Amino acid sequence: MQYISTRGLTQPHTFSQAVEAGLAPDGGLFLPDSWPDISGKLGDWEKLGYAELAAEFFTLFAPDIPREEWHSLTQRAYERFDSPDVAPLRKLDEKTYVLELFHGPTLAFKDFALQLLGLLYKRQVEHTGKRLAVLGATSGDTGSAAIHGCMGQEGISIFILYPNGRVAPLQERQMACTGASNVYAIPVPGTFDDAQRVVKQTFGDTAFAATQHLSAVNSINIARVLAQCVYYIWAWLRLPPEARGGVEFVVPTGNFGNVLAGWMAQRMGLPAGSFRVATNQNDILYRFFTSGEYRQGDVHPSYAPSMDIQAASNFERYLYFLLGEDATKVREVMEQMRSGDAVNIPSGQTAMKASRMTDAEIRETIGRIYASYGYVMDPHTACGFTGMASDRVSVVLATAHPAKFPDVVQSATGAEPTHPTLEALKSKPLETHPLEATPEAVKAFIDAQHRA
Ligand SMILES: *Cc1c(COP(=O)(O)O)cnc(C)c1O
Repeated sequence: MQYISTRGLTQPHTFSQAVEAGLAPDGGLFLPDSWPDISGKLGDWEKLGYAELAAEFFTLFAPDIPREEWHSLTQRAYERFDSPDVAPLRKLDEKTYVLELFHGPTLAFKDFALQLLGLLYKRQVEHTGKRLAVLGATSGDTGSAAIHGCMGQEGISIFILYPNGRVAPLQERQMACTGASNVYAIPVPGTFDDAQRVVKQTFGDTAFAATQHLSAVNSINIARVLAQCVYYIWAWLRLPPEARGGVEFVVPTGNFGNVLAGWMAQRMGLPAGSFRVATNQNDILYRFFTSGEYRQGDVHPSYAPSMDIQAASNFERYLYFLLGEDATKVREVMEQMRSGDAVNIPSGQTAMKASRMTDAEIRETIGRIYASYGYVMDPHTACGFTGMASDRVSVVLATAHPAKFPDVVQSATGAEPTHPTLEALKSKPLETHPLEATPEAVKAFIDAQHRA
C-alpha cells in the first residue's frame, strides 16, 4: 500500500513517509492508492476491543509498521481514555444513538487521531534520530489534542497557531497550561482560516520545512483520517444487527475530516447507509451539498467554534473522488477556489445529506434534548440534532464533552457542566507566545526555539 497525492505530482509515499510529510510536496493531500475490502473481516472484528480493532485496521493501511507494533501503539494511545469502551455508543431511543468521542485526555474526538499521531512521531524520531518540529493551526480542539499527544516527548517541539480570542477559554487553557517545555501555544490575529493560511505558507517554504524537519499536525494528516475510520466501524459493530444496514451517521462538520473518515470506511466495505454533514451557521458545506456550489463566505464566530470554518481543508480528498480521481481536474478546481470564485462541482455521486444550525437553534436543541432524555451535550454535537431521518436509525457523533463549552450549555440546561480535568486547569498559569499572522514571524520563532 502506497500513498498518492490528490494533485498527482508527487511520487508515491509509504505510510510512514506520508505521515511525516503531512501535506504532499505538490500541495495536495495524501490518499491510499488502493482500498482494502474490510467487509469480510467485520465478523472477526466484532470480538475485538477498541485498541485491537484499531491495530488490525492500521495493519491493512500501514504494512511498513509490524502488526505487533501496531498493537502496542494503539494500546498506549487508547489506554488514556476514561471509558473502557473508548468510544461508548449510547442509546437515547429506538431510533437515536450517540457515539461519545470525548473520553480522551482533551475531551474531544481529535484525541482519537492525535494520541496515536504523537506516538507515531515519537517512533519516527527514534528511528531517524532527527528532531521534529510539529506545526499546526487550530480552531481549538486539534491544537489541544495534538499538544497532549506530543507534550514531554523527547526530540519533538510542537507549535500551535490559533485565532486570538476566538477559541473557547478552556480550549486555550488546554493548550497553554501544560507546563511542558516543548509546547508553544501561539495566538495570532484573525480567524482560524488566517492561522491555517500562515501554516500552509510556512510549509510552502520547502527549504525551511526540510531543515527544521517540519511536520503538519492538523486534520490533513492521512494518519488522522484513518484513525477516525476506526470508530465508525466500532459503532456499526455495536449497533443491534437490524439497525446496522441503513444506519445514518450524523457528523458535526468543520474541516470535513471526520465525515470523510466515515465515507472512507463505507468505501472500504462498511455497510453504513448514509451520512449527514451537520454544520453551524458557517454553512459552506451545507450549501455545497444542497446546491453543488462551493463558495467561500466570511467566518462568523458561533457557539460551536471548532466548526467556524469556510475553507474545509479535507474537502480536497472528497473532491478528488467527485472529479473521477483526476488529479489534473483537482489542481484546476483548487486554483479556481483560491482565486475566490464560486466553483460548481458535479455532486452526482454524493451520498451525503446536509443540515445547518444557527446559534439560537443550538441553544434550543441542547435544552430540548436535555428535557427529553436527560442527556447533556456540547454545542457541536447539538448541530447534529436537526432533520433526523424518520426511516432509519441515526448515530450522532458527539465530538466534545459539554464541559468544554460551559456557558452555552448552562444557559440551555440551567446547570453548569464540569469535568475534573478542566477544573484542574483553571488554577494553572497561562503561557502563550503571540505572533503576527505571517510566515516570516512563524519561521523566525521556530528557528529561535527548535534545534533540528
Ligand atoms: C474539529 C471538531 C469538529 C469538526 O470536525 P472536522 O473533522 O473538522 O469536520 C466538530 N466538533 C468538535 C468538537 C471539533 O473539535
